[in-house]
Amino acid sequence: MPRIVLLISLALLTPLMGSCQGHGEGEVMRQGASVNQNMPALTWKDVIHFAEKGSPPPDRRVVMSDTEWRQQLSPEEFRITRLKGTERAFTGQYCESHAPGVYACRCCGTELFDSREKFESGTGWPSFTQPVRDNVVKYEKDTSFGMVRVEILCNVCDAHLGHVFPDGPGPGGLRFCTNSASLVRTGE
Ligand SMILES: [Zn+2]
Repeated sequence: MPRIVLLISLALLTPLMGSCQGHGEGEVMRQGASVNQNMPALTWKDVIHFAEKGSPPPDRRVVMSDTEWRQQLSPEEFRITRLKGTERAFTGQYCESHAPGVYACRCCGTELFDSREKFESGTGWPSFTQPVRDNVVKYEKDTSFGMVRVEILCNVCDAHLGHVFPDGPGPGGLRFCTNSASLVRTGE
């Protein structure tokens, strides 16, 4: 019964409220073939399934204490990635950047999103249609602030990335709304 309730509540998530809300009408920025072009697009149904059952296992796990994380992160990066914070809209380093590259986890370096899946959402946060692989992002139901949302985390080190919403422009219809402080872009 709780599972049914969860399914219904997740299915009724639109319209969504809160931080990372809203979306613009910008075009999807596609500069080439997607790295996961041969995989079927991840859908909201997959997200709900992963939130309930867990994502496919990651290739590795990175577990560190808060003290150790503080040593390698700025105070702002620590607040966002380890304490589930949110950076102010339109302030992040990658908010409006569409340079090519791969966005990796700021904490553990796991590659999470490809710039070819980044699109201009108009929200003030870096937004992507897909992760590079199913097993790099973890999904958890988030009921904070009186809302029901799906939190996205790094599946390797549990860094908070942001939230995912079912109103994206790609074939899977997803919008991965992230914090710049949770990511580091590397060259292609
Ligand atoms: Zn990580």
